Amino acid sequence: YDLRNEDLKDLMELGHGNGGSVKKVEHIPTKTIMAKKIVLIDAKPSVRKQILRELHIMHDCNSPYIISFYGAFLCDPNICICMEYMDKGSLDGIYKRIGAIDIDVVGKVALAVLEGLTYLYDVHRIIHRDIKPSNILFNSQGQIKICDFGVSGELINSIADTFVGTSTYMSPERIQGAHYTVKSDVWSLGISLIELALGRFPFSESDPDDSDLSDLEGTLSPNTIGIPTKKEREQNAKKDKRKSKGVSLQGGGMMMSILELLQHIVNEPAPRLTPEGRFPWEAEDFVDSCLLKDPDARKTPKDLLKHAWIEQARASTFDLEAWASTF
Ligand code: ATP
Ligand code: MG
Repeated sequence: YDLRNEDLKDLMELGHGNGGSVKKVEHIPTKTIMAKKIVLIDAKPSVRKQILRELHIMHDCNSPYIISFYGAFLCDPNICICMEYMDKGSLDGIYKRIGAIDIDVVGKVALAVLEGLTYLYDVHRIIHRDIKPSNILFNSQGQIKICDFGVSGELINSIADTFVGTSTYMSPERIQGAHYTVKSDVWSLGISLIELALGRFPFSESDPDDSDLSDLEGTLSPNTIGIPTKKEREQNAKKDKRKSKGVSLQGGGMMMSILELLQHIVNEPAPRLTPEGRFPWEAEDFVDSCLLKDPDARKTPKDLLKHAWIEQARASTFDLEAWASTF
């Protein structure tokens, strides 16, 4: 495809996250339906061009577990990324619509994500960096694929410069400043699987073990939480000076909640698939091994493909296409 913005007709809004928004579009010349992600980037033209060059690697990412890439282009001041459209949307949207996801489906999700991560790392040395239900997509053919992986170092840097986001799916070692490894993605997968199986985010107010987090209700969302940008912090600081108070008011409360959650992830035992006995023990054991707090003890996606629960998911005859037709 030689993609130009003029050839794309907007059909509908699919959603938006911290980095930008996603629309369902039609590529008029070829009648192809696509998802167009518009990423807001505040960077120099040379950096934008570098990002486009780096995104090119996505043309070589061909796997049944990875969203296909049609192309990317500049539409000042944004970058547009066109990718395969998945008609059932992301898994966060699905569980919010239909409730907790059947554990057989969750097993298939674990299998697909591990296959996708193993492909990205073994073939391209790419670490995903943002595994969460909103980046796992589903379609009516019953396919499960991952999207929004960190192909472009420059893009990651530019987004970090314009918007400092932190994710509640982040592993303890990442929170403590260690570099990303494939094992950080495994932690995020573990958190995501609990969220899908229980139909709620694992660190939330209805969990009795997390009663110390109850006051965070409302500020804690399973999606990325925003930390005030440099500009916002400066503005807050100005406001504070005027009010001659020592702490930031507007951003301050929010910031505290985020720090409390991050501290909780680092210091408290990892969440588990509970109550015990509700799910197959193989599923409990798999989630436990994703959520080992010590990254040296945690397995890689490739090793986890050999886990008993994943072998069951592979052998399972559960019909995802039939399941997709129920919602
Ligand atoms: P964040 O910005 O924190 O990563 P997010 O993943 O929800 O959050 P986006 O990546 O901008 O934000 O995606 C917004 C929504 O668009 C997703 O939640 C998903 O439901 C939908 N979406 C994204 N890509 C596709 C796609 N290829 N096909 C169908 N829907 C998509
Ligand atoms: Mg996303």
